[in-house]
Amino acid sequence: MKVIIHFFMFFSLLFWFASCSQETTNKTVDSVLVNSIDEFNQAVANAQPGDIIALANGTWTDVELRFTAKGEVDAPIKLIAETPGKVIISGQSNLAFSGQYLEISGLVFKDGYTPTSEVISFRTSKNALANNSRVTNCVIDDFTNPERFDGDTWVAIYGKNNVFDFNTLIGKGNRGVTLAVKMNTKGSRENNHIIENNYFGPRDILGSNGGETLRIGTSHYSRMYSNTIVRKNYFDRVNGEHEIISNKACGDEFRDNVFFECQGTLTMRHGHHTLVENNYFLGNRKPSTGGVRIINEYQTVRKNYMAGLTGHRFRGALVIMNGVPDSPVNRYNQVIDSYMDNNIVINSDYIQLCAGSDEERSAVPIGSTFKNNLILGNTNAEPFTIYDDVSGIEFSGNVMNEAAKAPFNDGFEKVPLALSRNENGLLVPNQELIDRIEFGEVKLPITKDEVGASYYPKGGAERTFNSGKTIKVAPGENTILDALSQSSSGDILELENGGEYLMTKYAFLYHPISIVTPEGEKAKVLSEKQSFFKIENGGAFLAENVLFHGAESPDQAGNNVISTSKYSMNKNYAVHVENCKVEDMDKNHSFDFLKSYKHTFADSINIINTQMTNVTGAVMTLDMEDEDLGIYNVENVKIINSTFTDVKHEIANVYRGGTDESTFGPIMTIKDVEIINSGKGARNKTDAVLRFHGVQKLNVDNVNISDSKGMDLFMTNGEPIIQLSNITFTNSDGLRTNDEPYSSTNIVNK
Ligand code: CA
Repeated sequence: MKVIIHFFMFFSLLFWFASCSQETTNKTVDSVLVNSIDEFNQAVANAQPGDIIALANGTWTDVELRFTAKGEVDAPIKLIAETPGKVIISGQSNLAFSGQYLEISGLVFKDGYTPTSEVISFRTSKNALANNSRVTNCVIDDFTNPERFDGDTWVAIYGKNNVFDFNTLIGKGNRGVTLAVKMNTKGSRENNHIIENNYFGPRDILGSNGGETLRIGTSHYSRMYSNTIVRKNYFDRVNGEHEIISNKACGDEFRDNVFFECQGTLTMRHGHHTLVENNYFLGNRKPSTGGVRIINEYQTVRKNYMAGLTGHRFRGALVIMNGVPDSPVNRYNQVIDSYMDNNIVINSDYIQLCAGSDEERSAVPIGSTFKNNLILGNTNAEPFTIYDDVSGIEFSGNVMNEAAKAPFNDGFEKVPLALSRNENGLLVPNQELIDRIEFGEVKLPITKDEVGASYYPKGGAERTFNSGKTIKVAPGENTILDALSQSSSGDILELENGGEYLMTKYAFLYHPISIVTPEGEKAKVLSEKQSFFKIENGGAFLAENVLFHGAESPDQAGNNVISTSKYSMNKNYAVHVENCKVEDMDKNHSFDFLKSYKHTFADSINIINTQMTNVTGAVMTLDMEDEDLGIYNVENVKIINSTFTDVKHEIANVYRGGTDESTFGPIMTIKDVEIINSGKGARNKTDAVLRFHGVQKLNVDNVNISDSKGMDLFMTNGEPIIQLSNITFTNSDGLRTNDEPYSSTNIVNK
């Protein structure tokens, strides 16, 4: 039998060879289908210009492909998939190649991660680089190290004259740049790489520096030329950190790219002579969506279109930074002879000039222009913030609408606000204004359908609540667990009015799940385990109109209702609790409502219209990243219209340490909240009932705190926006803050 199979394979291969061999101008092209890493290595060793090596369809697990060969300009050596998209590289795998005129296509990396620090590398060793080579029609999808802060780079381009095009990169969840152009040796500078027609799919907020989607160079080599062209790429919700693109080299061009709902900006962090032209930034009013930030000399930002951007400070629609006098290479070069002209900015909230001005960053922009920009909209009547002396920027020919406030009279003309959707679906002012600045047609230079690997779906794994089916769950023992085991992402478990539900095992959540009682008497949920619900990687939890009760919890310290994974999570989670009750979580000490662990990150935690009573731990512990590296545990927290009584530890304990400026959270709203007899447990280490350390945005309004510990507010870097209003401390410890400024009204101590 074995012989027969081999015979059959032999003839198939022969047939395959025959069908693929072809005459080029002067030599025979060999096509080799390889089924194993040994066959692959053999084929690479024998490869001649014009040859094609095809990886057989199927899953290649734990393979480190090393491809060193020399093709010729009209006879590249190709590494292809037998069928594009049907070769899956998984497990502990990667690809490195070097030589010249190599072309790689059709491979999909998923269900694994690289054991080295790169997934696709344009070199096989420090001095063996790839030149004149191309990676095309490949995919890296969620090929993410499970350790969130174990960093790697998905694609590292070394060498010269390389092309990275029509690839799809989705869902990087661990630290590290998605695509980096490296310049660490001479052979990788003045490289003339082209990065085009790629799809950069959704990337979660990292909650730390190191979440850039594209970086060119590093500060160390930033005064050298890269000459990389980045054009016609589609950036779709890449939210890793505030630099979507971090340009750190000279002579680069960013043209005709689309940035769709990306939280962050194209940042000219280092290097000069950068061109940023005809890029479209579509924020759709999503939080922290930004545009372009200028630092350094001879930068040109022209004819870009920005709409619906909400980002402030370094994430504004248009930002020009202050520099550091005689800046060290890793700080901020002064802006000199740079131009921010002929851009269209619609319904975008912030334009920041001399941003970052402080004692160190005191060198104001000089020799620069801000001309012929159309800044129109009704979302913020005062979009300009001017932090320092702007006399080194020439303002002329700019247009704003009448209701908006211009920073000066000179250089700004006022027109009535008249916006309409054009035939391309984009909001535009009237044609006369567009023509006046010679913008040309307002139209996306590329669509999502035109980029990325042809065979691979766009988007990423959607993690949203209430997007699936409803599963009715009868009261009883472990019925919730049975329902969970049949559930899929976004499903709703519907409990019965007034029903009682006991769990004798952990309820693990691997995808978003909602647990809901229809209107009426809340279902009662109890657990015999240390945690009721454990949110594992990819999971998220929503509860509505449910009573959680601690009566059946074990008599041991450290119980909780919801816990994250104890291990690093590389996907963000969310918790939404609305119209719920939490009662008698008092079996032993330190019974938390939500317990988070290190290296986990929540996009949002909401507690709405909920009452919690008699809890021996905290309502939420989000203080696990204690090394002061700028890492933190949550982006958005909302506690609204809720009451907390007899909670021994904190209602909220949120900690972001360090002075890193790459992120914009945590962002917190505490509104219409009563806190009674809380925070006074002997084991409450913070000695506070609300503790905010290093939060970037905080709004506390209409909060009554009685017979309780107080509120700690420790502001760190990054101009945090703190608004405290209508807070009454009765027989409580009051407000403690450090010396940073904040705005407050009507804070009363009784
Ligand atoms: Ca960064």
